[in-house]
Amino acid sequence: MNILLLGSGGREHALALKMSQSTLCGQLFIAPGNAGTAQCGKNINMGVSDFEKIKSFCLDNAIDIVIPGSEEALVNGIYDFFKKDAALQHIPVMGPSQEGAQLEGSKAYAKLFMERNNIPTAAYREFNADNYEEGVAYIQQHSLPIVLKADGLAAGKGVVIVDSSEEAIAEFEQMIKSAKFGDASKTVVIEEFLTGIELSVFAITDGHSYKILPEAKDYKRIGEGDQGLNTGGMGAVSPVPFADHIFMKKVEEQVIRPTIAGLSKEGIVYNGFVFFGLINVGGEPFVIEYNCRMGDPETEVVMPRLKNDLLELFNAVASGKLSEQTIYADERAAATVMLVSKGYPEAYEKNKVISGIPAPAHDQVVFHAGTRQEGSEVLTNGGRVLAITSLAANLSMALAHSVQTAEQIAFDGKTYRRDIGYEFV
Ligand code: ATP
Repeated sequence: MNILLLGSGGREHALALKMSQSTLCGQLFIAPGNAGTAQCGKNINMGVSDFEKIKSFCLDNAIDIVIPGSEEALVNGIYDFFKKDAALQHIPVMGPSQEGAQLEGSKAYAKLFMERNNIPTAAYREFNADNYEEGVAYIQQHSLPIVLKADGLAAGKGVVIVDSSEEAIAEFEQMIKSAKFGDASKTVVIEEFLTGIELSVFAITDGHSYKILPEAKDYKRIGEGDQGLNTGGMGAVSPVPFADHIFMKKVEEQVIRPTIAGLSKEGIVYNGFVFFGLINVGGEPFVIEYNCRMGDPETEVVMPRLKNDLLELFNAVASGKLSEQTIYADERAAATVMLVSKGYPEAYEKNKVISGIPAPAHDQVVFHAGTRQEGSEVLTNGGRVLAITSLAANLSMALAHSVQTAEQIAFDGKTYRRDIGYEFV
């Protein structure tokens, strides 16, 4: 089958590599891709939300399936665009409808969905310009710390956790009255702060049945010991030791099953990946957020541990036969260490020559994130540059191997964390 994968990060390289290993894989196109995806298929210079161009490309190249890597195209309605067009209807899009993508695109929508379906999440209320004063009063009588969330997508920056009511009110005012995050903060969700350890759980669904993929934990802060600014993610591990059978049973019964049942009951069309951002509060799972696609860098540990043929799973989703599938996970532990550009997540330089990337091996792959090929050279092309994933008998061995390779790869300004998975080794 011919495939069009949309995106250009480490996640897309991991998905591209996994699909390229399938016997079902015909031509694999990645738009726009990076220097790593170019080794798995053909990169195409096309924007992920340029639907008209995507349409022509799919028809010209007999594409059989479209895989949006990030939320962008999904929130912009790529699923509905394909379904409404007679020429495209036959091509499955692995993702939710625009409505389903609201689980990620609107925090207020996600909260209401969880409320309707009895899914454990932090207590909250939503406010906008019309009930602004009520919001101020709500903050004043709320326990501390308190969490404020811009309703819409804000590139991971729309969540603020503050320790005083004054700070919370100032932030609330900026979000609603000064449009700190533009339209995204027209509505603000104010919620209770939950104390616990986070993890990411992934399922694949056809909207009625679901299969649970290996879980992961990512590390968002730039500095070791979880210090400093938030990033897109500095590394990840899988499995997560506290996600044992008992905890995962609670996750399935209290979170995953009611989520899929809720989608089905409410007639929300949803195919593909569901990402549950969870927090373990004293052994009980609570949902912090939903995402309508895989995580990055979690995909870089989940895909190498997934033993199934990914295209077979996608076909099962498309034909409504997912319930017949069984998920098989590699017993080994996976650890990803992200190499980033100096200065990231603030200003950083691009176009640094990268050297020393080892060839893929049975126990290690270096996924490309922000890279591009120029002639025979690979250059940095983003904040997050490479994701080194190693598989080993245990997490410390996997991490040690990734760190060893992180030392060998060279580019000007290379920065990384050596303590990914530190709580578990
Ligand atoms: P991402 O960049 O991961 O997509 P986001 O902008 O969609 O994030 P959330 O995932 O909802 O926002 O929140 C970001 C982070 O803030 C969470 O990963 C978590 O660490 C913290 N957080 C959010 N809500 C809560 C809460 N109720 N209690 C404690 N921490 C929270």
